[in-house]
Amino acid sequence: KTEDIIDTPDFSKSADGLIPAIIQDDHSGKVLMLGYMNAEALTKTQEEGTVTFYSRSKQRLWTKGETSNNFLFVKDILVDCDKDTILIKATPAGPTCHTGDDTCFGEKIGQDSRIGEAAFLNYLQKQVIRERKLNPSESSYTSSLFKSGINKIAQKVGEEAIEVVIEAKDNDDDLFKNEVSDMLFHLLVLLEQKNIDLDDVISVLRSRHS
Ligand code: AMP
Ligand code: ZN
Ligand code: ZN
Ligand code: ZN
Repeated sequence: KTEDIIDTPDFSKSADGLIPAIIQDDHSGKVLMLGYMNAEALTKTQEEGTVTFYSRSKQRLWTKGETSNNFLFVKDILVDCDKDTILIKATPAGPTCHTGDDTCFGEKIGQDSRIGEAAFLNYLQKQVIRERKLNPSESSYTSSLFKSGINKIAQKVGEEAIEVVIEAKDNDDDLFKNEVSDMLFHLLVLLEQKNIDLDDVISVLRSRHS
């Protein structure tokens, strides 16, 4: 019966017949590595119960662990919604990475792990502050700001700006950072009150930067 057919990956979705296979540790949930499979590699993986990839560098089937004995024992094989990626849950016999690490994904890209911190401002406005405006709660300070209106919000920005000026003259960086944070926060509330996104302001800055 055709409706009993189990989903299979569609290897024709990539020109070279290779599709990515994500390997996830069955117990810890950690992503261990990513390799590529063709139909033959998947069949061998299913038949033998250990993960076999097609190695693009070796240009042949490669059973992970074939020399190190650090095999990946298959627990479950899944295919994604559009059938172009495989997810294999497996139990590793030893460290999966040839560096000796349990996972190949041990390194962060970029020297500064805080590279995305500025995006938090967007999240703060579009999720948190907007939510306090649309669904006010009795106990929320932010909701009370919206309730008291634009003049009060603008005044708060002014007060915080003065506190920034005062702390700028001192040598206490922690106090200074706190006052800048207060000012930024109230500025975001003011933007939200006026239905202007932080993105719109950043666009103005960018347009000046020819
Ligand atoms: P193994 O399959 O563990 O016996 O390792 C055989 C060879 O495959 C190693 O010498 C590496 O060149 C390569 N290799 C092993 N593990 C990985 C991995 N996780 N990612 C990429 N290459 C690997
Ligand atoms: Zn989907
Ligand atoms: Zn997909
Ligand atoms: Zn590795």
